[in-house]
Amino acid sequence: MESLDAFRARARAWLAEAEPPEVPLDLDSRFTVLRRWQKTLFEAGWVGIAWSREAGGQGLTHSHQLVFVEELVRARAPQPIGLIGLEVVGPSIDRYGSDRQRTELLPRLLAGDDIWCQGFSEPEAGSDLASLRTRAVADGDDLVVSGQKIWTSWAHVAQWCALLVRTDPSVRKQAGISYLLVDMSSPGVTARPIRQMTGDGEFCEVFLDQVRVPRRNLLGAENEGWAIATHTLGSERAGATLRRRVELEVAVDDAISELRGRPETPRVRAALGRCHVAMRVLDAQTRRTTARLVAGTGPTPLDSVDKLVLNDVEQTVLAEIAGLLGPLRAVLGSHPHGLRSQRWVHEHLYSRAASIYGGSAQIQRTIVAERLLGLPRG
Ligand SMILES: Cc1cc2nc3c(=O)[nH]c(=O)nc-3n(C[C@H](O)[C@H](O)[C@H](O)COP(=O)(O)OP(=O)(O)OC[C@H]3O[C@@H](n4cnc5c(N)ncnc54)[C@H](O)[C@@H]3O)c2cc1C
Repeated sequence: MESLDAFRARARAWLAEAEPPEVPLDLDSRFTVLRRWQKTLFEAGWVGIAWSREAGGQGLTHSHQLVFVEELVRARAPQPIGLIGLEVVGPSIDRYGSDRQRTELLPRLLAGDDIWCQGFSEPEAGSDLASLRTRAVADGDDLVVSGQKIWTSWAHVAQWCALLVRTDPSVRKQAGISYLLVDMSSPGVTARPIRQMTGDGEFCEVFLDQVRVPRRNLLGAENEGWAIATHTLGSERAGATLRRRVELEVAVDDAISELRGRPETPRVRAALGRCHVAMRVLDAQTRRTTARLVAGTGPTPLDSVDKLVLNDVEQTVLAEIAGLLGPLRAVLGSHPHGLRSQRWVHEHLYSRAASIYGGSAQIQRTIVAERLLGLPRG
């Protein structure tokens, strides 16, 4: 297998020649540009680096994947658009999918030909996900799905959705859930974007009205979807932690470059000091994550510690930078694209979501308390 040093040199050389795209402000154009960028990365062998070859990946390790993320971000090149597929849903299809599902779905996911969304949360089931009510009822070779999802990122542009549904309402709530792979062009699926405080309409309400899904699109067995959903959520936490660490490191470097030439006041020094300390903590924490991923031990309650540290660091660092380089108040409502024109303001506002998506900070603390510290259930 290629050594990490040789792999890093090859990635760096490729990125130096690749001419990564500028990321447009407008969400639709951004989607188009970053989808094309995913294709470019895929064709050059830089997507699915740690995935199996049958799934269309490169068959290398998570350490190689991390090296590429470091080089990509340090080259100021954008991420591919299909991160929900790549970091969240795809690893679960690779692990639990049938041969047909893996070979038909995963190469298209990696190439960005199919965009995936994750239909887990519902209006009455977010933190308490197992209370979800979207029903699927057997009818011949199909399951017929009706219900509503919410906060489904990229649903309005997705070709596929990883959907949690209730297939048996008569048993303990975790036991009656199935994991379905749903073609978003099926009759009865409607996705309606919701505008966020950043100005983007990136996530959606999804309505499902008598949607017929063939049984062969069950991921894993019927009524055994909860364990796979747990795997999906764990993959989301680990993947995001590693990537965000490098992205924040680069954000701090960029902020320092922008501050050069300005007066070095005690306020600036104190803010950068706080960023530096926060980044060192995140760095130390994520070394353990890489080791866990490389060992292939899979998602663990330790991922919740990562997520909590990442939330705090992300929100601290981006609030400090926005405070120095904003200015927050001056741009509110002053631009046709809302707040998006200001990188630091946009990033600061988006960082508020970090302690909500993928399981809120309060829920992660409960996992740490009960499953790592062995404290009594609250
Ligand atoms: C930017 C963004 C993108 C998202 N993308 C997706 C997506 O693609 N697919 C998807 O399925 N979901 C997505 N989500 C939804 C996300 O997973 C949920 O928002 C999250 O799980 C919280 O659920 P909720 O919003 O229903 O809040 P609730 O569960 O209603 O919680 C509200 C508040 O109460 C607290 N709380 C709830 N229960 C407890 C408890 N037992 N103990 C202590 N505190 C508690 C929570 O921590 C939170 O502060 C996204 C969210 C965001 C912000």
